[in-house]
This record gives sequence, structure tokens and C-alpha cells, in this order.
Amino acid sequence: MQNSVNAILCPFCKGINNCMVNSNNACRCSTAKIPNELTAIVPAALRRTSCICENCINLFNNKPDQFKRQYILTSYKKQSA
Ligand SMILES: [Zn+2]
Repeated sequence: MQNSVNAILCPFCKGINNCMVNSNNACRCSTAKIPNELTAIVPAALRRTSCICENCINLFNNKPDQFKRQYILTSYKKQSA
């Protein structure tokens, strides 16, 4: 059993992701369509361990620009201050 990573928290919004990977039922994260582009921006340490919550998947699908601004702003430096 590994408990080193807090896999119940979404890597983006830090909310409870309701992942059911530890239950008997398959979690939606194993069936949900998560864009490759989204998994690509999950911090490497959390990739394949933390489930991305439904809110973040929806936000990414609907408003990718807003999502990126909200969650990976630190990766980008504003061109003009
Ligand atoms: Zn989330």
C-alpha cells in the first residue's frame, strides 16, 4: 500500500476528486475521456496517481484557455505587466 501521494485530491484545484480507484467499482477516471493535453499538464509527480476531478475535466473541455490561466499560470510569464 502506498500512501505517499494524496491521490484523493485533484492535482489542479486540490479538491476532493471522488476517485473510486480504491473501491470495488471502477472509477470514472478509468473510463472518462481525459484529453491527452490535460494529462500532459498534470505535474509529473501526480501523473497516473491523482485523479483529475470532473470539474476540471469539464472546465478544460469547455474553456481550455481559462483553465490554463487558472491552473498553470505559474508556467507562463506574462509578456507585459
Ligand atoms: Zn479539480
